[in-house]
Amino acid sequence: MTLSERDLKCIWHPYTQMYTAAPPIAIVKAKGARLWAEDGKTYLDAIASWWTNIHGHGHEHMVQAIAAQAACLDHLIFAGFTHEPAVKLAEKLLPLLPSNQVRVFYSDNGSTAVEVALKMAFQYWHNKGEKRKKVIALKGAYHGDTFGAMAVSGRSAFTQAFESFLFDVIYVEAPVTGSEEDALKEMKNAVDEYGSEIAAFIYEPMIQGTAGMRVMNPAGLQQMIQDCKTRSIFCIADEVMTGFGRTGRMFASEFMTEMPDIMCFSKGLTGGVMALGVTTCTQNVYNAFLSDDRMKTFFHGHSFTANPIACAAAVASLEIFHSEKTLQKVQQIELQHKAFAEQIKTDPKVRNIRVLGVILALEIETPASTSYFNPIAANAYNFFLEWGILMRPLGNVIYLLPPYCISEEDLQYIYEAIKDFIRLQSK
Ligand code: PMP
Repeated sequence: MTLSERDLKCIWHPYTQMYTAAPPIAIVKAKGARLWAEDGKTYLDAIASWWTNIHGHGHEHMVQAIAAQAACLDHLIFAGFTHEPAVKLAEKLLPLLPSNQVRVFYSDNGSTAVEVALKMAFQYWHNKGEKRKKVIALKGAYHGDTFGAMAVSGRSAFTQAFESFLFDVIYVEAPVTGSEEDALKEMKNAVDEYGSEIAAFIYEPMIQGTAGMRVMNPAGLQQMIQDCKTRSIFCIADEVMTGFGRTGRMFASEFMTEMPDIMCFSKGLTGGVMALGVTTCTQNVYNAFLSDDRMKTFFHGHSFTANPIACAAAVASLEIFHSEKTLQKVQQIELQHKAFAEQIKTDPKVRNIRVLGVILALEIETPASTSYFNPIAANAYNFFLEWGILMRPLGNVIYLLPPYCISEEDLQYIYEAIKDFIRLQSK
């Protein structure tokens, strides 16, 4: 029996309708931007394995750091105890962040990093004795699949079955091209009307990923953050997807001068090879939990909080950023993407092509609804697999988000496949 056949007998996959899904592709090896399947086929990992991978799979420095840490200290309770990789990572990460970020709280994935951020904000106001229970989020947002993270995400097919369990959120338009004015107006109204009841504003800085790689106007977002700050509303930057160079800067929050109060990280944090979440905060947030009153404690933690192997991977990844000048590679990819965008932007079958850092996205002109379920997604997914490319379109949005090690030739190959896909679409 093949691995894929054995899988079909015992596994339930994420975001997969198991009744109709094709058998999963079994991968036996990965190196750089390439994946090797059980049947001998190879695939280019054009979406960095769900937006996680940074330096390429199997990077020697990462492999060594992980192996050395596993041999030395594999896992440890993180209440009452600490370890070198956790401390070292916090020491290395904080200086890279906006200067008001002073404390690192560990968890183990992107959704938990968001849960921690929301709970920090809510409990801050609780500890201060102020009734602030509302949250502002952006329409179309995606912040994860746990309940708090779902609550602050836009309502969609992903949240439909759970809607009655999700706390209410004030949604405002995202400041994406064409919607900036509405976004600013709606934010101003929300802040004017409910300001003193709002605990936090959560947003994906610069680009909404799951909504279809919707790029924002930084000046608009900056204004919205400023509006929140005038009413002491905490601004939570969810950098789970955007962090660690994806947008061309180390963090997307760097596109704005106004700093967030709380930040969430995962995915690329460990170079995309180990599960780890980080939530950072300001001194002000942290101070609200310091007390003789034990009820002001932040009662939150996960078994795998600050797993030493994951922290060692994150430290190794930051070392590579320095030793290999990784952000320069991102800039090269961005230039190559932009040249490709120029080539195809006038094609009548293509709409709204955009580039931000290593992310290139375009919409296929379609008469059907542009939702997540647009049939173009499934067609394109299979089409690109035939070309030996792993892509996962979001509705009619085709996008690339490759690991930064991808070669010029491999990128060129992917562009050719995209052109071929566009050519085959009926007008
Ligand atoms: N926030 C954002 C912006 C994300 O893109 C994601 C995942 N795609 C998450 C949170 C959730 O992260 P995880 O899948 O690790 O729970």
